[in-house]
Amino acid sequence: MTTAKQLFSLQELDLVLDRIRKVTQKAEGELNVGIGMERLEEELQGEKTRLAEFQSQHKTQQQDSEAQRERSTRLDEQLYDGSVTNPRDLESMEQEATNVRNALEKVDAQLAKLGLRAEESQGRCDDLEKQLAETSSTWKKRRTELEEELKSSNAEISLVASQRDEMAAILDPASVQQYENLRRTKGGLGVAMVERGLCQACRMSLPTQQRQKVRSAHLTVLCSSCGRILCTT
Ligand SMILES: [Zn+2]
Repeated sequence: MTTAKQLFSLQELDLVLDRIRKVTQKAEGELNVGIGMERLEEELQGEKTRLAEFQSQHKTQQQDSEAQRERSTRLDEQLYDGSVTNPRDLESMEQEATNVRNALEKVDAQLAKLGLRAEESQGRCDDLEKQLAETSSTWKKRRTELEEELKSSNAEISLVASQRDEMAAILDPASVQQYENLRRTKGGLGVAMVERGLCQACRMSLPTQQRQKVRSAHLTVLCSSCGRILCTT
């Protein structure tokens, strides 16, 4: 004969297991989610790509600028060294020199803009790298804490679980089954204490006859209100 009291003791171990498992799940969840390192890494990768693009554009424009500058110098030399005397040739050469100077100005303005963008992008990369290093060191500490927590929780679980199994092994299987079914359907509580005539799970007052039955300990009495197995101290 399995008494309600024995089932209540079994439930106390089950509740301890529930509590530790909850802690374990929380720690595992936190370990799985991490703390946003991936987002930062992605952001940094994107910024590095943009920086490389600015630098490559800057290089191309710089080459363009140098070529235009050389051309402008050469045209100026030709214009003033007296080698060209034909007025029409001189006029078209002057026009060309003006065009080249205008183009050079545009390229230089573009170059300055790209230089500024590259500088800003470099600044963002530096910030992100710093953030990433800080986050990484914070996470390293937290991860160690969580792993320690999991280790001790798992050790506690296996200890309590073996006590629970030992206890369940000496009880009547049908009673354990009934208790487990109730626990599953009634929010983790299959057995309820009766105190001052009240079922401690649903707080309903029990009829006198039912209270007497519970005290007899030779019967399995279910709460008429919530259906749990009733137990007294
Ligand atoms: Zn009840």
